[in-house]
Amino acid sequence: MKKQNDHATRKLERLQLYLKILYKLQNQGRVLISSSQLAKEIDYSEEQIRKDFQLIATKQGKPGVGRRIDDIVADLEEYLGYKKVSNAVVIGVGNLGGAILRYEGFANYGLNVLAGFDIDNSKIGTVINDKPIFSIDNLEKYIPTLDVNIAILTVGKENALEIAQRLVKAGIQGILNFVPIHLEIDEGVIVQNMDLAASLSILAHKVKNKLNND
Ligand code: NAD
Repeated sequence: MKKQNDHATRKLERLQLYLKILYKLQNQGRVLISSSQLAKEIDYSEEQIRKDFQLIATKQGKPGVGRRIDDIVADLEEYLGYKKVSNAVVIGVGNLGGAILRYEGFANYGLNVLAGFDIDNSKIGTVINDKPIFSIDNLEKYIPTLDVNIAILTVGKENALEIAQRLVKAGIQGILNFVPIHLEIDEGVIVQNMDLAASLSILAHKVKNKLNND
């Protein structure tokens, strides 16, 4: 099961990277691209890219000419679900939650971050980046009415599990969890953990190895 997940995650990461590069090329006015030309821009083989393109393509490319970048972008956006907007909310509007509410880049990925929830009276009723901050007491009332299926969890460790359980009961389908704890919740809900400390420690380890080998 874990292997299948890793495989699927790697595929999604590749498709997201293709899209990022193709957006850049589109902005530069480029019209066509072949798998071999794309392979020169990134660290994946031409064969891998061709396989991925076959999986998502609704239109065939011309041998020796390549595919229209607009077509590949449309196919990738459709496959990755970027055109289907998902509504999300931030739970815990502190340092991290506030920064997420201020970030404008989620819209490119079909994510619409609508609002924040907090327990702190000094934050409830305020607005960040046009997004209202509601009381956590109103969670169960607002989740269904806002048509939200994703929650970004940025509360402290102490409250995370209880809030996650409430989110599940309120109908949330996926949680992007920034809290450094394991969330024991209903199997049907997808939890994506964002462990910044672990990522940083892996990076530090790689940098140390690189410096030792230089
Ligand atoms: P913070 O203390 O600034 O913010 C936490 C927010 O959660 C506060 O606004 C608080 O009022 C709110 N809150 C507390 N209990 C709540 C409840 N029951 N319901 C709703 N809101 C509640 O913390 P932070 O620095 O933003 O970090 C948030 C979480 O993310 C922590 O678990 C932290 O370990 C993790 N994290 C933070 C960082 C970072 O760089 N700040 C990085 C990685 C992970």
